[in-house]
Amino acid sequence: MSKNDRYHDVIVIGAGVGGIYQIKRLTDLGVDVILLEGEEDLGGTWYRNRYPGCRFDSESYTYGYSFSKQLLDEWHWKERFSSQPENLKYLNFVVDKFSLRRHMRFNAYVESMTWQEQDRVWLLKLRNGDAYRARFVVGSLGPLSAPTLPEIEGMDTFEGDSFHTFWWPEEPVPLEGKRVGIIGTGATGIQVIGEIADKVGELTVFQRRPNWSSPLNNSPISEAEMAEIRTRYDEIFANCAATPSGFEHLPDRRGFWNVPRAERIAFWDRLYETSGFAILAGNFAEIYTDEAANREISDYIAGRIRRRVHDPETAEKLIPKDHGFGMQRLPLETHYFEAYNRDNVHLVDISATPIARITPTGIETSEAHYDLDLIIYATGFDAVTGAYDRLDIRGVDGAPLRDKWRDGPLTYFGFMTHGYPNLFMIAGPQSASGASNFPRAIEVNVDGVTGVLQHALANGCTRLEAELDAERAWVKEVERSYAKLLLRKGKGWFVGYNSNVKGHESGRNRFPAYQGGGARFASLFRDAMNDNYRGIDIRN
Ligand code: NAP
Repeated sequence: MSKNDRYHDVIVIGAGVGGIYQIKRLTDLGVDVILLEGEEDLGGTWYRNRYPGCRFDSESYTYGYSFSKQLLDEWHWKERFSSQPENLKYLNFVVDKFSLRRHMRFNAYVESMTWQEQDRVWLLKLRNGDAYRARFVVGSLGPLSAPTLPEIEGMDTFEGDSFHTFWWPEEPVPLEGKRVGIIGTGATGIQVIGEIADKVGELTVFQRRPNWSSPLNNSPISEAEMAEIRTRYDEIFANCAATPSGFEHLPDRRGFWNVPRAERIAFWDRLYETSGFAILAGNFAEIYTDEAANREISDYIAGRIRRRVHDPETAEKLIPKDHGFGMQRLPLETHYFEAYNRDNVHLVDISATPIARITPTGIETSEAHYDLDLIIYATGFDAVTGAYDRLDIRGVDGAPLRDKWRDGPLTYFGFMTHGYPNLFMIAGPQSASGASNFPRAIEVNVDGVTGVLQHALANGCTRLEAELDAERAWVKEVERSYAKLLLRKGKGWFVGYNSNVKGHESGRNRFPAYQGGGARFASLFRDAMNDNYRGIDIRN
């Protein structure tokens, strides 16, 4: 080891929701740990995504940390689905309350990590030239932290402002009177469009494939309601822990075909007016697995879109025809469909009239040129594996992790991967985070990592590696979790689709997330950890 390199027993990478909780758990145990964050401040997702309309689509009180009663008593969530500035304030409040900032190093972007078998340490090299060594590394890199841009001729010639939503500037972006173009209608684009439609001069939406979307139904939380929520916190977290989705919404178990059609419709009418993911997570389980049931709910939601969008031709363009409801990650919307009733909002179907190029003054499709002052790219992320792929991780014998994961991630419970000893992941590929309420799954994940690390440090164990057989069995379990779900036929990040990432364009199934639900994941994971860390080769 070079004397100039700084050494810590544990290094956590990433100061988002996962990294903050991980550093809290480890510093409470007195572990020699620091956290490295590439940005100039903490917050992860909630630090970066500053676009208008950015907010939770988890009920706020199910999203916050559950570990401290005092924290739960002190924090007032002002809205059922809290907005980005408030979420960032919350994370800063947590970090300041528990004095965690002193364990964090900012502007510390890790560019490479190399396993040193002889010393059983990781060597981390930073963009700023610093180097660190650590016995153990916990990557909390974020499943949606590697934004992707399309490759369109002339993009760099545009003379107005343009950026990906992930890079929305901190300083206010003038919108009033501006001609704005937006590419992308995923959860992000749908939030932006609903928010800015009445604030810009003209808004042109360039849509390739529409997404199903249903109302968020946000509302303020008064002091009195918050006081009531505080009395229910134990129950709320117990409910979330018991459901597949990690929310309070329980799937309806009456059986789709046992309930008469008229009753199903009345049930959906209620769910459509209920807040958050109720219509997805609180629906009949069959809508996920049974083509006929899925068609029926899809027709129901299509009917809602037709009722909300005045122009029938526009309504048809906004209704997905290539996939059913719930087969891709459902965006939740606020006045999204009503935006298209405004005279200043225009929908361009770029599957019919593709974008030919970006010009200095706007976007040219095969049919027309649209003059623009601002182009917003809401074009998504190299999800789940992207943040790991771009970090040059070399394991045993110098093998690059991105090569091992070329055809899709291979992990043990999404938290370790064979050939990369002493590396742990929070919300990693094939964990439960992707398909459930993130923080609920993250807490299970962090508690597991903390337990293994505590065991290793207390017993002088210096090399921990996921066993190959255990990893193969977990990958099979993840594949099985997709088998019955219609979403395996969709094209979304849940199946590893991204048209802008080489090798991910076809929507080929890469099994990036465990789909068996948060409750089942937690039970399997805890069983393995309680069974003497089954599946992990632990050496002194
Ligand atoms: P996304 O769901 O991947 O959507 C990207 C959009 O950009 C799609 O409409 C896609 O069209 C379009 N697009 C991409 N490349 C394009 C190209 N070359 N030409 C034309 N269109 C292109 O990304 P996202 O909306 O950022 O959402 C990602 C995830 O972030 C969500 O699924 C969700 O998990 C998370 N998120 C969460 C919240 C929240 O919790 N409140 C809010 C926002 C996002 P195609 O479908 O045709 O590829």
